[in-house]
Amino acid sequence: MKHFFIAMCCAITVCASCSRHSGPVVEDGFTWEVDRFADLRVLRYQVPGFDSLTLQQKKLIYYLSEAALCGRDILYDQNSKDGLAVRKMLEGIYAGYPGDRTTEEFRRFEVYLKRVWFSNGIYHHYSSDKFVPGFSQTSFADYVQATPAEFFPEQLGSAADIIKRFTPILFDPTVAPKRVSQEDGTDLVLGSACNYYEGVTQAEVEAFYARMTDTSATEPPSYGLNSKVVKENGRVVEKLWKVGGMYSEWISQIVQWLEKAAEVAENEHQAEVIRTLITYYKTGNLKEFDRYNILWVRDTSRVDFVNGFIEVYGDPLGRKGAWESVVNFRDEEATARTEVLSRNAQWFEDHSPVDSLFKKKEVKGVSAKAITVAMLGGDCYPASPIGINLPNADWIRKEYGSKSVTLQNITNAGNQASLGNGFLEEFAWSDDEISRARRYGALADVLHTDLHECLGHASGQLLDTIVGDELKNYASTLEEARADLFALYYLMDDKMEELGLVPDRNVARAAYDAYIRNGLFTQLVRIEYGRTVEEAHMRCRKMIAEWCFEHGLEHRVIDRRVRNGKTYFVVRDYNRLRDLFGELLAEVQRIKSEGDYDAGRELVETYAVQVDPELHKEALERYKALNLAPFTGFINPHYIPVIENNEIVDIKIEYPDDFAAQMMKYSQNYSK
Ligand code: ZN
Repeated sequence: MKHFFIAMCCAITVCASCSRHSGPVVEDGFTWEVDRFADLRVLRYQVPGFDSLTLQQKKLIYYLSEAALCGRDILYDQNSKDGLAVRKMLEGIYAGYPGDRTTEEFRRFEVYLKRVWFSNGIYHHYSSDKFVPGFSQTSFADYVQATPAEFFPEQLGSAADIIKRFTPILFDPTVAPKRVSQEDGTDLVLGSACNYYEGVTQAEVEAFYARMTDTSATEPPSYGLNSKVVKENGRVVEKLWKVGGMYSEWISQIVQWLEKAAEVAENEHQAEVIRTLITYYKTGNLKEFDRYNILWVRDTSRVDFVNGFIEVYGDPLGRKGAWESVVNFRDEEATARTEVLSRNAQWFEDHSPVDSLFKKKEVKGVSAKAITVAMLGGDCYPASPIGINLPNADWIRKEYGSKSVTLQNITNAGNQASLGNGFLEEFAWSDDEISRARRYGALADVLHTDLHECLGHASGQLLDTIVGDELKNYASTLEEARADLFALYYLMDDKMEELGLVPDRNVARAAYDAYIRNGLFTQLVRIEYGRTVEEAHMRCRKMIAEWCFEHGLEHRVIDRRVRNGKTYFVVRDYNRLRDLFGELLAEVQRIKSEGDYDAGRELVETYAVQVDPELHKEALERYKALNLAPFTGFINPHYIPVIENNEIVDIKIEYPDDFAAQMMKYSQNYSK
């Protein structure tokens, strides 16, 4: 499973890596955003701590990174049948077109190519809809004809062939319009442009896998994960993705780099992990993949990686794994932070403001691993997740556990890039509030997330008579509210300072400012005008903020102010606000522990759902004027081995700043 950047997220709703006590990492002069086009922005990310790794760890990262880049073309081919050919054809024009490249029309051509690069094909990476070029068909024909033939792969044929083949693919919105169709009542296989099935219907595919599946198996392999289903001589068959099978050329290269990686693994267990993955790539045997996952879950080495056919979102039937890779190493400091909280879980439980009847006598916190990403590949590039939880096989998760990781430097890059985008300045009331957010916002965010995840969800207990499904459709909103309130309440506790997690109360103040501003107002920019709040996390934030606003009216805990026709929400009394958080936490915990559906419903319906249309309109207008890009992607750092006497003596890291250049380089170095 993957968690993504929330589209149109505001400046500090995503967490960020930060050194303890110093707040967000602000490197002067480092440019985060390197490109922007259509609805996308492209950022760089830093790899803090890379230089302090051992030479062996650096080598391991280098080899795994090369393996991560070798699978890039597989994903283009998986995303659509023509995706790879389209890219190579467009890159031919980009490299070889001798005409005027300064025209507006050619700029539109470049934007289209960049979108193809960003989405690994001709379908939007998020919506999966085909995007239509901004340049004309006539220009397309001109570009193809003017570009010397040697810039195009031979198999594409003459200029006339190219124009004939690709014009409908690029320009006709009715030709294969969607990568993944979920339209109820239609044949999802025939209706989807993804390249996982050919010449077969949904019914044929389902029958094929029904025959294969043993429903009584306790350790069922993920059938279909690593293959394309086609019809050969009237029979439905699988073409396995493996060495000697489909995608052999790319997978063989991945294997070569993995073999080098196995030689410099941090320990024997990790070497075994890598060797098992190699066996799987060579045989295509899904039992080997399961064996690899079980070994991988237990691998606690500092350097870690994902490499394979993993997530199935790109297949309408949810079987086929898109190829992806993430190479990373543990962020020791951030991981230590979650461990501190976990270790003190009982103290937090004992001191929470809820009724002792609803407290756990024995509570165990959860600690998540924070990682620093060193390389993104395949389906994780350029659009990267911010959290990953693997493996996906349920029985392995149950029997052997799973790894839950947060991608610290990726979130940090997103955060840093957003700090200068004007969002905060537009919606914050005062310079004080802005500077507090800049200085402490990132730390407040990570701590909020840590408290929410490590302690909040794990706290509290149900009465014996309660089953746990009593709250029905209000359950997730109330559960998120419980975890959020736990975090908000404790952020301002002296214990946080005592544990060395915060320098002072400014961290809590920054968190409170942001929470109230977002819950009452700015999160509305993610909702279409006229709609109500539906998503559980958004409902939770609105419920908490609105409840505190109303219950704090008498003491003016939160002010609603207007300046130059613009509305602002301002926290006036942080201590009273904390008390309100505690009061509501006690009530939400009671509702959950007693399974009090009516009270839960009342809370949610009163505070979390309805939107003031005037306020909504204002939020949307002010947001639109900022002209922000809703989707984020990244370019990778570049690793350069330093070689002396045929030996690698060091690996240097560089941060390129040109999206198109990186894409052209990858196409040159990691393509057939
Ligand atoms: Zn949660």
